[in-house]
Amino acid sequence: MEEDGQKLPPAGIFVVLIIVAFALFTIPNSSPLLRFIGFLALVGALGVSGYAFFLAKSEGTKDTVNWLTTIKESDKGYSRSRTPKKLKEWIKERRANGKCEYCGQSNYTLEAHHILPKSEDGADDPRNLIALCPNCHSRADRGEIPKSELMKIVENKKEEKPKWE
Ligand SMILES: [Zn+2]
Repeated sequence: MEEDGQKLPPAGIFVVLIIVAFALFTIPNSSPLLRFIGFLALVGALGVSGYAFFLAKSEGTKDTVNWLTTIKESDKGYSRSRTPKKLKEWIKERRANGKCEYCGQSNYTLEAHHILPKSEDGADDPRNLIALCPNCHSRADRGEIPKSELMKIVENKKEEKPKWE
């Protein structure tokens, strides 16, 4: 089967691109084509670092370091890089079917709650996300609903997987 995951984490790709650019620029009597490839490598490296800056701003330094040093595994599937918004929508609309997965209320706008918070390395993963009504969500955030209880609920729904997987 064809692997669609990267072999290198973004930080590794960045280093390789910088080395390639540097090498191609410093070859004596380098051809315009080689210089152009070096230029492209430089642009790619800038792209990686630019994205890292963007990520650092929106997700925080820790998540950025994780992104830079993590090889995206195709079979892991639900990594941060995989449109979390789409996943949250799937959880709220499909898996929860518009009903709070804790109390069952359906007349509220549901919110996707990370059972293990992202600050504690909680993943954007169906097994770590639960659709809650605003009441249950604030109770969960205050720690009034045990994490183990929420985990049990999603554990029972593990057979349901996002369609695009
Ligand atoms: Zn609720």
